[in-house]
Order: sequence, then C-alpha cells, then structure tokens
Amino acid sequence: AKEQGKNTFQFFNADMNSQTVERLLLENALRQALEKGEFELHYQPQLSPLRGELLGVETLIRWRHPQLGLVSPVRFIPLAEETGLIKQIGAWVLREACLQMARWDAQGVHVPRVAVNLSARQFEQADLVSMIDGALEAAGIDASRLEVELTESLLMQKPEEAVLVLRQLKALGVTLALDDFGTGYSSLSMLKRFPLDTLKIDRSFVEGLPGDDDSVAIAQAIVAMARKLRYTVVAEGVETAAQSAFLRDNGCNALQGYLFSRPLPAAELPACIDRLAVA
Ligand code: C2E
Ligand code: CA
Ligand code: CA
Ligand code: CA
Repeated sequence: AKEQGKNTFQFFNADMNSQTVERLLLENALRQALEKGEFELHYQPQLSPLRGELLGVETLIRWRHPQLGLVSPVRFIPLAEETGLIKQIGAWVLREACLQMARWDAQGVHVPRVAVNLSARQFEQADLVSMIDGALEAAGIDASRLEVELTESLLMQKPEEAVLVLRQLKALGVTLALDDFGTGYSSLSMLKRFPLDTLKIDRSFVEGLPGDDDSVAIAQAIVAMARKLRYTVVAEGVETAAQSAFLRDNGCNALQGYLFSRPLPAAELPACIDRLAVA
C-alpha cells in the first residue's frame, strides 16, 4: 500500500502539466456520464426544399455536465474515441434515437427518418450490426427509418472490412449517408467502392453560396453528379435564404441548417415542425 501511495504521488507530480490533469478529469467524468444520464440528444430537421416538409432529423449528442453546462460533441467525442468509450456512448445514442422515434410515433408527431452519426471505433465493433438491429427491435422501428452517417476517413481506415459492414447494414434495411462529402481526398472513388444512399454536402461548400464563384461551381458539380448517380443529396449548414434558394434551384433533395432550425431537444421538435409547416 505504501508503494502504491508513492507511485500515485509521483504520477501526479512527474512531468504532468495541467492540460494532462484536465484531460484525466474529463476522461473520468466522461466515464461516469453515461451512468449518471448526463448525455442528451438534440435533433436537427432536414426539409424538402420545395414544400418545406420534414424529411427527417439528424441526431446530435450533447453532454449536460453539472459544472461545465452543455458540452459540445466537438469537445468530448474525440476523447471518447481515443478511450474507446465511444462504443458504449454510440450504443446509447442508437437505442435512444430509436426509442425517441417510437415516442414521437406514439404522440402522433410525424418524423419519417432519424440519422445517427457513427464513429470509426464503432465500426471496429464486431457486434455493430446486431447492436443496431437490437436498437430497432427494442423500439419497434422499421430499419428503413434509420440512416447512419459515416465519414470518408472512417470508411478508408479499413475499406475492405467497411464494405462488408455496410452490406450487412443495407441488408437490415438501414440507409447509409456519407457525411461531410467533398472534404476527404478520395471523395469520388468512395462512390464506386461503397454502397451509399445519401451524400451530405459539407457546410464548407454551402458557406460561399451564392456569391462565391468557386463554391457555386463545386456545389453545382456535386449535386449534378450525385443526382445522376441517383444519390439523395442533403446540404448541411444552410444559414441564409439565398443559400436555400440556390440549393433548391440546383436540385438538392434536402436542406439542413440554422436557417430552419438549430438542433433541438426532442420535446421542442413538435412546435418546430408546426412552425416550419406554416412558414
Ligand atoms: P456533423 O455530423 O458534421 O454535424 C453537423 C454540425 O453542424 C453539428 O454540430 C450541427 O449542430 C452544426 N450545424 C448544423 N446546422 C448548422 C448551420 O447552419 N451552421 C453552422 N455553423 N453549424 C451548423 P455539433 O452538434 O456541434 O456536432 C459536431 C460534430 O460532432 C458532428 O459533426 C459529428 O461529427 C459529431 N457528433 C455529434 N453527435 C454525435 C454522435 O452521436 N456520435 C458521433 N460519433 N459523433 C457525433
Ligand atoms: Ca453528421
Ligand atoms: Ca456533416
Ligand atoms: Ca461537418
């Protein structure tokens, strides 16, 4: 016990800077957050550009920390990935998103589809497919109403394995979206390689619309190519009416962004749907 105490003392005094200590504290808090029920899901609407009907929502996780307040996933998802905690967190996200769909159904709130972000570490999970199947089963939700969002870097880590997992997910009936499309270095070869349904144009291409010529050329080319290859095209980060009009006129299938709504807690979605319907 004496030896142990000495080690612990050295552990905290050696070369550790305050950043490392902060990280350790954060990691510990993250470990307990699930048990304490500190995570919550927010949902951001995706709308059809012509009639403004709700096509689905994207699920975005938040951490309601008692001292830090609402913590952005940008701050804790990377740490959750490094520590492997993302597997438990990701499983919770999937279960909760499916259960929420069932709750909306029971309330008569029509949310056709829910999209969930997957991380690279989750993709290594041998039981990923059965976990997703289980989440759908437990909630009694049809697989066609779940879309999983994947990134190029995730798929390219182990492309051969990824193809097999994607095929299994497709066999379940889940749809597959490629997130942040265009930001990777192999975007186009991804399309031949993986059985994807949806391309999400990254916010960085939407930002410059409609004023910046390069953004216009890139956005038009992406949408035209994607439509020709029969993908569903979703634009993310739509903030202005001019961006929305441009994307609508150029054939985007769905729009998502602050112009319509920020990501909202589940309870606030019905009022948002009503507001968007009359707008
Ligand atoms: P993402 O998947 O690219 O999600 C889109 C991000 O853009 C979200 O940030 C969203 O709130 C934000 N956003 C939406 N509309 C607009 C807009 O009009 N303008 C601007 N400037 N931003 C907009 P958020 O919620 O902070 O999430 C950040 C990232 O964290 C996500 O990026 C995703 O990669 C990750 N993430 C979120 N939830 C989960 C999750 O449940 N699991 C995993 N593995 N990752 C998640
Ligand atoms: Ca996403
Ligand atoms: Ca995205
Ligand atoms: Ca993004």
